[in-house]
Amino acid sequence: MMKQYMQTKEEYKDCILFYRLGDFYEMFFDDALTASKELEITLTGKNCGLEERAPMCGIPYHAVDSYLNRLVSKGYKVAICEQVEDPKTAKGIVKREVIRVVTPGTNLDTQGLDETKNNYIMCIVYMADRYGLSVADVTTGEYLVTELDSQTKLMDELYKFMPSEIVCNEAFYMSGLDLDDLKNRLHMAIYSLETWYFDDALCRETLQEHFKVASLEGIGLSDYECGMIASGALLKYLEETQKNSLSHMSRLTRYATGNYMVLDSATRRNLELVETLREKQKRGSLLWVLDKTKTAMGARTLRKYVEQPLIDKESIVKRLDAVAELKDNAICREEIREYLNPVYDLERLVGKITYQSANPRDLIAFQSSLSMLPSVKCILKDMESDLLKEIYEELDPLEELCDLVGRAIQEEPPLAMKEGGIIKDGYNEEVDRLRKAKSEGKNWLADLETKEREKTGIKNLRIRYNKVFGYYLEVTNSFKDLVPDYYTRKQTLANAERYIIPELKELEDTILGAEDKLCALEYELYCEVRNTIAAELTRIQRTAKAVAKLDVIASLALVAERNNYVRPKINEKGVIDIRDGRHPVVEKMIPNDMFIANDTYLDDKKQRISIITGPNMAGKSTYMRQAALIVLMAQLGSFVPASSANIGLVDRIFTRVGASDDLASGQSTFMVEMNEVANILRNATSKSLLILDEIGRGTSTFDGLSIAWAVVEYISNSKLLGAKTLFATHYHELTELEGKISNVNNYCIAVKEKGDDIVFLRKIVKGGADKSYGIQVAKLAGVPDPVINRAKEIVEELVTADITGKVKDIAVQGSETKKKTQKKLDEVDLTQFSLFDTVKDDDVLNELKELDISHMTPMDAMNKLYQLQNKL
Ligand code: ADP
Repeated sequence: MMKQYMQTKEEYKDCILFYRLGDFYEMFFDDALTASKELEITLTGKNCGLEERAPMCGIPYHAVDSYLNRLVSKGYKVAICEQVEDPKTAKGIVKREVIRVVTPGTNLDTQGLDETKNNYIMCIVYMADRYGLSVADVTTGEYLVTELDSQTKLMDELYKFMPSEIVCNEAFYMSGLDLDDLKNRLHMAIYSLETWYFDDALCRETLQEHFKVASLEGIGLSDYECGMIASGALLKYLEETQKNSLSHMSRLTRYATGNYMVLDSATRRNLELVETLREKQKRGSLLWVLDKTKTAMGARTLRKYVEQPLIDKESIVKRLDAVAELKDNAICREEIREYLNPVYDLERLVGKITYQSANPRDLIAFQSSLSMLPSVKCILKDMESDLLKEIYEELDPLEELCDLVGRAIQEEPPLAMKEGGIIKDGYNEEVDRLRKAKSEGKNWLADLETKEREKTGIKNLRIRYNKVFGYYLEVTNSFKDLVPDYYTRKQTLANAERYIIPELKELEDTILGAEDKLCALEYELYCEVRNTIAAELTRIQRTAKAVAKLDVIASLALVAERNNYVRPKINEKGVIDIRDGRHPVVEKMIPNDMFIANDTYLDDKKQRISIITGPNMAGKSTYMRQAALIVLMAQLGSFVPASSANIGLVDRIFTRVGASDDLASGQSTFMVEMNEVANILRNATSKSLLILDEIGRGTSTFDGLSIAWAVVEYISNSKLLGAKTLFATHYHELTELEGKISNVNNYCIAVKEKGDDIVFLRKIVKGGADKSYGIQVAKLAGVPDPVINRAKEIVEELVTADITGKVKDIAVQGSETKKKTQKKLDEVDLTQFSLFDTVKDDDVLNELKELDISHMTPMDAMNKLYQLQNKL
């Protein structure tokens, strides 16, 4: 047995091998060490012909799912090796085979998965500076492919799909991407596959065979070199691991990243699209507000809509039309939602059905779901919007399947497939007969007993049963003479004889065989039904998609009505005009409609950049995110929180907001911030919307201000970038830019002073804020009085010294020479020193003046400072 084990293990080196022994799956050697640690199970040993005992641990077969889930979610692959012949009849060692390899991206156990999310596996092929990327969800059959030409775009896709497993070629594995970050922070398992997976001819053949086409043209891949290899290799990998029908992956959808709004990882997180920034939970995200879907398919689809908003006006308007129709028609909408309520996850059900892992209850769930569809279809019949009409067409109630399951399968069947009790009475004559035999056997025996007594006159004749002889007729010695010829004697006891007769034998066969036969027949019939359903795969998938879309539209319509949203107008002129806009999430968090609505206006001409000032806590971030979210909502096809909105389509939204959580990745806050700024400036286009909050905060005032200043100049210049931008800053100096650059405008969030305190009005108004009110905000936050009072004193001193005035001087137009600016910076530095009255020694002062700061490294500067201080 250990030999057999070693041979199998040799083939599945990279997996933990679950080796079936009776009622257990056993693991040996390193697998046992790993599994016992990860699963907290006892490690034992087994004699294996080697000098030392082999480390071993095991798990009971009936609890395999939960152990499997735990290992797989930790990024391990598990190969399940089963006994493939009956141990009772096997000669020698029972034959065993690996029947499936479960990996993080191919886990089918729906209980281990979040049903509102897809579980994606992604294949990435890196060749000649291009990336081929293919994604699949084996539980739903979704299967996509695309090609990309840069690592940035690849990362955007990674963040969009968040696959739990990535398989790739060696070239990608070695391409310098931070794999540890993907593994540890994003919990994506990454495996580099052997080279043969990526063989051009093999991939071609795998795809052609799977889709039963003669050329790749048929599936739209003829001009798609690395995309073809990625999808072919992925399919091969799935075939190798699943060892099962993948027929539910019935379509390979080629998508272009250009069809969707691009959102990078920082933006996704900052805008809290599907989870919150800190707690990583759905509550508090945009999806949380929008998701009133009734089905798991709908929930997944809505998540996709939120994660990839559209950029094409026609498709957006099509969705909006449908949402509008269901918003206005509340009665139909609520009826639809009610019918959708009991609909199960058809996509995953059909996956299970084609995998032949669906149990009888899954079929009932399938049937009860289908039975809702005729009513839904009936409601949709008179709908007018194109999308709802399309859904009407696509929605196939699959009546014959519904009817079949209804006739064949018991309403409350057991989970087990091979223990009978599945098939309904009246569906199959043989089943009925066998069942009758089972339940009525006792009566038949009693009848036979009476009949034989009457026939023979043996008054105490009894039919009895034992394990050795089965059923027999027992006659005591006193009646022995009355026994007729056709009784065959089986056994003689001291005071009685035991006989059988053909009729009893027949009954015995029927009764005893009925149980086994019934189970086998029921299983056979059950499989037949399941296969009939599997054969209608394409229709079911199409219907599932239609149900999902309908669910999303109904959810968006309901949310629009409940939250008082309006239908946005969509334009391609680049004007964003939001009246009385509200933040969809914050407004929900604030009690009794206390949210203050604000307007936003941006265009490509005079109003390209808004500089927004105001004290901390005034509502700057909320205001800017609200504008981004409203644009995003409009482009995903949702109504928006505003009194009116005209949205000029944007190709990307970028955000650079506050301190990032990326500190875990080991970079300084400033470095992270600058990375994000660099990414934005390099990748934004004139059609992008930029949300920039407090740029330059992570460094010294002057550096920070200069960077912020230069960034605004760069963005505003249509030859360089010219993107629409909301720019919040605590550098009041930046308000100087209004008037100097024609498309920059100042706004501030109003506050009212009330004695020593301030009241936030939350209203955005034209103009720049004149004060930062930092101390008042600190007071509101509960900073102790002595600190507040001391801070006020210091501020007084600083204001007298007019440092701010000096800084404003520097903040002249960027065309000024670097030298001049440097000189002024030096001056200000000095002012600061004299202000704090710490530098008295003229020598030190002179030395300081002589320094050529622009040619010093930070380390030199530190050393110099240290020397100077020691001189004092
Ligand atoms: P800032 O970015 O200016 O520091 P925030 O945008 O973080 O301020 O807002 C601070 C808090 O003020 C938010 O958590 C929110 O509760 C509240 N707030 C912001 N905008 C509004 C508004 N328009 N109406 C009501 N409350 C608001």
